[in-house]
Amino acid sequence: MKEFDYIIVGGGCAGLSLAYELEINEKLKNKTLAIIEPRAEYKKDKTWSFWKVAAHNFDDCVKKNWKNFSINIPKKTNHLECNIYPYQSIDSGLFYKKVNSKLKENNNISFFKDISEISSKNSFVFNSVPSIKKDHRNLWQHFCGVEVETKNDFFDDEIFNLMDFDCDQRESVHFFYTLPYSKTTALIETTWLSKMNDESQKDYDTQIKDYVENHLNLKDYKIIYKEEGAIPLFYPTNEKVRNKINIGTAGGMTRLSTGYTFLNIQEHSRYIRENIENIAHAKKYKISNKYQFLDEIFLRVLEKHPEKMPEIFFKMFKASPKTVIKFLSNKSNFFEDLSIIFRMPKLTFIKALFY
Ligand SMILES: Cc1cc2nc3c(=O)[nH]c(=O)nc-3n(C[C@H](O)[C@H](O)[C@H](O)COP(=O)(O)OP(=O)(O)OC[C@H]3O[C@@H](n4cnc5c(N)ncnc54)[C@H](O)[C@@H]3O)c2cc1C
Repeated sequence: MKEFDYIIVGGGCAGLSLAYELEINEKLKNKTLAIIEPRAEYKKDKTWSFWKVAAHNFDDCVKKNWKNFSINIPKKTNHLECNIYPYQSIDSGLFYKKVNSKLKENNNISFFKDISEISSKNSFVFNSVPSIKKDHRNLWQHFCGVEVETKNDFFDDEIFNLMDFDCDQRESVHFFYTLPYSKTTALIETTWLSKMNDESQKDYDTQIKDYVENHLNLKDYKIIYKEEGAIPLFYPTNEKVRNKINIGTAGGMTRLSTGYTFLNIQEHSRYIRENIENIAHAKKYKISNKYQFLDEIFLRVLEKHPEKMPEIFFKMFKASPKTVIKFLSNKSNFFEDLSIIFRMPKLTFIKALFY
């Protein structure tokens, strides 16, 4: 069976980002790479959005940038600016097309549907398939979004809505998220932070219809795209194996308090590329312990007091937007961390240390 220097298991966001990073930096000129991906065809299946706090390779796949955003709870709205770190949305369809056409130019890169088609015993493996046990104690961010199109101008495409908590909470944490791509199109998502054991939260279509028609007051529209997903707010349990690194969600690249993963994947890809010659001995790349610790406390509070979360998120964004964005994107310094921590209800968070 054929052997390869490197194997990437899973040609999704992390697998393709890594392959692209290696390819454009000429790390695959004299090395062979196999990408294992079972999907029959690539089509747009996700929209990856984030504050651009670091450079990445996919500016030409950006669907839209925003410099303003809002967050609301019932009867209160906060408008914020993000000029320094604009919020970006990447169209996964454009991303898959760009990466795959580049990778196909290099004969050292081969694609397979299943790892059993090749020999992996002498290869270095980058695995992006998470091992996730179905456990009802775990928290998830689960959501469904639709892209709607209107005949007449309806949306203000200068500002996106990060979180609208003015909706049915059902003793959980629930918000809507609206990304207006133009005056006539927007992605509208219903998002839950919960244990996923409550099937009644999954009537996503009804939730979205009610929000669009009765909250946004938009009656004449059509749905042109739909995406659904669930991001684990816990670290997958992929075992440690010699000559294997986990990447993407499997590699712990999700920020647990927010679900943001895309930019961490890009930074991890860059780190691997910089260390590729000695990758078996390179230090493990991870989201820093500081954020892991703070996110764990945050999620404990969320689990115990879901009813407090709208106010907590709202208060967090009362800090300077630059500070909150840096904090949520793993780029904050000690003083910026403190300015966020001081806005949290102290007793609730101190108690959460001991749950
Ligand atoms: C709908 C959705 C929207 C998201 N939006 C955002 C966002 O706005 N911002 C953000 O930062 N993050 C977002 N995320 C989180 C995260 O960025 C994405 O999940 C991202 O795709 C994670 O990349 P990944 O490579 O780890 O996983 P994936 O992109 O899911 O890639 C894993 C790949 O492995 C393949 N695979 C599965 N089983 C096997 C197998 N046995 N062998 C080989 N291959 C296999 C799959 O087909 C898939 O292509 C979103 C997640 C979802 C689900």
